[in-house]
Amino acid sequence: MSQRNTEHWQALGRSHHLPPFSDYKALNAKGSRIITRAEGVYLYDSEGRRILDGMAGLWCVNVGYGREELVEAAARQMRELPYYNLFFQTAHPPALELAQAIAEIAPSGMHHVFFTGSGSEANDTVLRMVRHYWAVQGRPEKQVIIGRWNGYHGSTVAGASLGGMKAMHGQGGLPIPGIEHIDQPYWFGEGGDEDPDAFGVRVANQLDEKIRAIGADKVAAFIAEPIQGAGGVVIPPDSYWSRIKAILAAHDILFIADEVICGFGRTGEWFGSDYYGLTPDLMPIAKGLTSGYLPMGGVIVRDKVVEVLNEGGEFFHGFTYSGHPVAAAVALANLRILQEERILETVRERTAPYLQRRWRELAEHPLVGEARGLGMLAALELVQDKRSRARFAGETGLRCREHCLNNGLVMRAVGDTMIVAPPLVIRQAEVDELIDKAWRCLDLTARELGR
Ligand SMILES: *Cc1c(COP(=O)(O)O)cnc(C)c1O
Repeated sequence: MSQRNTEHWQALGRSHHLPPFSDYKALNAKGSRIITRAEGVYLYDSEGRRILDGMAGLWCVNVGYGREELVEAAARQMRELPYYNLFFQTAHPPALELAQAIAEIAPSGMHHVFFTGSGSEANDTVLRMVRHYWAVQGRPEKQVIIGRWNGYHGSTVAGASLGGMKAMHGQGGLPIPGIEHIDQPYWFGEGGDEDPDAFGVRVANQLDEKIRAIGADKVAAFIAEPIQGAGGVVIPPDSYWSRIKAILAAHDILFIADEVICGFGRTGEWFGSDYYGLTPDLMPIAKGLTSGYLPMGGVIVRDKVVEVLNEGGEFFHGFTYSGHPVAAAVALANLRILQEERILETVRERTAPYLQRRWRELAEHPLVGEARGLGMLAALELVQDKRSRARFAGETGLRCREHCLNNGLVMRAVGDTMIVAPPLVIRQAEVDELIDKAWRCLDLTARELGR
């Protein structure tokens, strides 16, 4: 306890901690960066360095760090009722009031919420709920769920199975049975010489082909993120969602829009589904729901699904921390901040257009093959050759990420795609700082590559 410094904490990590998504040997050789506090859009590490958090934590700190209102909401609720469950015909005000507040901002016809502790649990809930939905209607054979390669729906067994991360599938015998995948609408990486909209329609058509191949009588649902986040901020060509909508309308299957990243203002709308005009039957949520101040997730459910669940007897599913009162109180306060400070309007009208305009300037850098983005999401494709879109071997992103961290910017690497998703409250001057630092780190990466 006497030596509260970087080496001390790194030693504790090596001795006792198994962090998520980490190569333990590589990390232990190096030691973690220790983040000790945060304020606004900035993190501070144990060496006293200030770092602009271009990722809003993990896409979640939408209202920024240091919000006393959220601290107060948690403290007040902890004093009043720190915990009670929602099992066995009991409930408590924070969960009920939060469900109402979410129903008010959800797309029309979606008035109910099932609470979970995380986005992964939300997707586990979705898997069981959609299969149960069909079984209650006497169609238990309708249970295949179609997801997309490189989609991300969490790291539990169901979440990772619904997702299409092949490295995750390679560990632990995933995906579980009854889950199929189609290609992602990733034009830059997989579209080749095809026109982006033609490519968008072609990969969307894979949904129709897959449903027909499996048999519509065996398909329960299609799951997709409006914009793939963890897969590398994959923004579909304009043609994609309109084609998917037409295919969904032609088949009697449910549509799950995973809003864990896109929800709560990231696109400038409440949900990515609002941005694209989608009509999902279920929407997993988490992350921005509490701005990450406490863990919480849920599934927003369309009325027609609720009507069937109402006839289904007991739904044998739930978590000790479903609708946790302190998390719910913080989520309520978080939604109030988003509304009262008109954060979505500011994102939509001012800061997102500004971020996107300045982000496009990075396309002029010799290492960048594409600079794309939407709302408060953006990506850079690092390439060896701009014209042919020839890629590096996948290690350049990590080099760039390291330069960013060493120069005061969190920018995440997904292979050789660099991504940002800053707090929604980022200001114009802070966007300028983000762009300047990104450019400098691209320079440092190019120099390291001997260019
Ligand atoms: C992060 C994420 C999840 C998983 O959420 P956890 O809270 O980490 O379990 C699910 N879906 C999407 C789209 C995500 O980005």
